[in-house]
Amino acid sequence: MSHVLHRDLRNPLPTAVKGDGPYVIDSAGKRYLDASGGPAVSCIGHNHPKVIEAVRRQVGEISFAYSAFFTHPAMEALADTLTAQAPAGLSHAFFVSGGSEAIEAAMKLARQYFLEIGQPQRKHFIARERSYHGNTLGALSLGHDFNRRQTYEPLLLPVTHISPCYEYRERRADESAEQYGLRIANELEAAILKQGPETVAAFFAEPIAGSSLGCAEPVPGYLARLREICDRYGVLLVFDEVMCGMGRTGHLYACAEDGVTPDILTMAKGLGAGYQPIGAFLAHDKIVGALEKGSGQLKHGHTYAGHTMSCAAALAVQQVIAEENLLDRVKDLSTKLRARLNDAFGQHPHVGDIRGRGLFIGLELVADRETKQAFDPAEKKWLKFRQAGMAEGLITYPAAGCIDGKSGDHITLAPPFNLTDAQLDEIIEKMGTALKQTIG
Ligand code: PMP
Repeated sequence: MSHVLHRDLRNPLPTAVKGDGPYVIDSAGKRYLDASGGPAVSCIGHNHPKVIEAVRRQVGEISFAYSAFFTHPAMEALADTLTAQAPAGLSHAFFVSGGSEAIEAAMKLARQYFLEIGQPQRKHFIARERSYHGNTLGALSLGHDFNRRQTYEPLLLPVTHISPCYEYRERRADESAEQYGLRIANELEAAILKQGPETVAAFFAEPIAGSSLGCAEPVPGYLARLREICDRYGVLLVFDEVMCGMGRTGHLYACAEDGVTPDILTMAKGLGAGYQPIGAFLAHDKIVGALEKGSGQLKHGHTYAGHTMSCAAALAVQQVIAEENLLDRVKDLSTKLRARLNDAFGQHPHVGDIRGRGLFIGLELVADRETKQAFDPAEKKWLKFRQAGMAEGLITYPAAGCIDGKSGDHITLAPPFNLTDAQLDEIIEKMGTALKQTIG
């Protein structure tokens, strides 16, 4: 009997004992091609010698430096690297241990900012329906995933939720992509006005909706319109790039492709690439300037914030991405993967949509391709697909659609940036088998 409290209390899990580039190997010696890096984490595969060496060197030098007492070279260099490549104005980095912590920290920074500038009444947050921002109580309040929220509903903060950008199901036949983007972005303005602009602190959104909507990307002009509305009402714009950022789209920051700069940008997952747990936010000069002028303190922190080994690993990951030209490789692999997916499943009767950017690609499963009717949630097609994939030796990241049928089950692919073309073929072949076994 395992003494670990696993999430699934009924079905035992395979035991992962080794990594080999993009493969996970279990205790029975079975190899799994990890086409999603777990939940979009392992972006350069396992055992990269440069990252291993960086972590080994760091632990030999100093294992821990408490960030309230000391700074350290790896943290300073990582902040320099991330801010140098960030959209203008995002020149301050704060490090935590994962995505939910980054979101909590961003919420608290937004709150503190408005206190510092003399607007204490701004404490309300707006986010999007069918979104996911993490599992701690603040982050869960922002999110709008029924299954994850249901148990904890009475403990959550009041948050207003507006429509996500989800063109596949929600763009009307009589509107262009741009018109659709404007229409749904304008829901933010309506929500701010309804709430009272003087009470709203921040709006949170993922530029590309990951685990909740299977890589639903922004239509042209959508993010820019959100920026305009936030500016008009003095509301902070927070982009959650925990899943879609750190190179996954072929750009280090996903929002750069749309040319829109948030006030706070959160990241995690690919930042440490699974070698160490780490998350972060980048904050705009205007926010940090207000704290400097005001209390002179960031009123938030954790024991392991900016951990030496986490920062050393994340810095080495950035060096690998630069030295191996991996952002270009993402763009190249993306074109190839999309073409292969379209050839293999573009006309599949139960694949309604193939979407996303870079190596962040979602497939939405449907009972009926014409009507876009989702599968009955009770059928758990997403789970069956995951299990069939694992049996074949393929890891993907499938998730359930909405219980009300407003989105279908979906499969997210987020493979490592340094995959070979032959490994792309292996993904397609194994997905085909898993689809046949689960859906027909
Ligand atoms: N934000 C987004 C967009 C995420 O996808 C996730 C994790 N799936 C989180 C936040 C939370 O990150 P973590 O699980 O590292 O706390």
